[in-house]
Amino acid sequence: MNPGGSKGSIIITGVGSGIGYETARCLLAQNYRIIGIDRQRGRFDELPAGDHLFLEADVRDFESQKQAIEREAAHHPIVGLVTCAGILVRRPYLELDEATFDQHLDVNLKGPFFACQAVLPAMRKQGNGSIVLISSSIARSGSVAGAHYAATKGGILGLARTLALETARDGVRVNVVSPGVTDTPMPRGHASDAEVLAKGAKIPLGRIGKPQDIAETIAFLISDDSSYITGQDIRVTGGAGLF
Ligand code: NAD
Repeated sequence: MNPGGSKGSIIITGVGSGIGYETARCLLAQNYRIIGIDRQRGRFDELPAGDHLFLEADVRDFESQKQAIEREAAHHPIVGLVTCAGILVRRPYLELDEATFDQHLDVNLKGPFFACQAVLPAMRKQGNGSIVLISSSIARSGSVAGAHYAATKGGILGLARTLALETARDGVRVNVVSPGVTDTPMPRGHASDAEVLAKGAKIPLGRIGKPQDIAETIAFLISDDSSYITGQDIRVTGGAGLF
């Protein structure tokens, strides 16, 4: 570990797979220290050697998540938070039970909500920080059998705007990245490989997103290159759903 040589620590939830893993790879290459949180290690060990640490935690356990973040913040400046942990179990609205709704609410909205609460005091004290929350194009477009997911992802948009206003004078920026269909395990939970890739034909740029597309946008929002951008929702969708 060499925190002195890095640009500072970034906490990434959902680091074991898909967009979270790719974001860790991208930010590690840009000389940030990575603190990855996930309920499973997943692909974390595929990361290149570097300054990274894995913390096994369920983001629904808000107190453990808070304690893990505060422990880290006591030793290293935390300059960024990226909340990628998320779930999508498709269920038609009239068949949706309360337990499934609560599960989505806890992982997709309350997890990020309390992760921000855990990280902000340290960012406020140091006078800088960048938070990137992950929503989805579905927050705006809606999606059949995804009312519960859309509701949580819409909540992220309101949370980010409010936090952006509340923290701007502390030097903290809060933005959202909203991916369209992206090539990770998530869309394969309810569609075959061929069906997922075929969605690219309807996208203006002719393909579904790659995790790298999303990771590079997140890395831009974390970096000082975006120092005058806060409260925004960057839709990385290949041109799909323009409205
Ligand atoms: P993924 O399934 O590949 O990865 C999600 C990660 O979150 C997994 O490693 C999983 O273990 C972790 N996770 C889930 N529940 C958790 C919990 N309770 N505690 C800790 N970790 C937990 O999914 P992805 O495609 O990389 O999705 C990342 C984010 O992007 C999600 O918020 C998702 O809603 C959003 N998103 C994805 C797509 C897409 O098409 N892939 C599109 C729009 C938005």
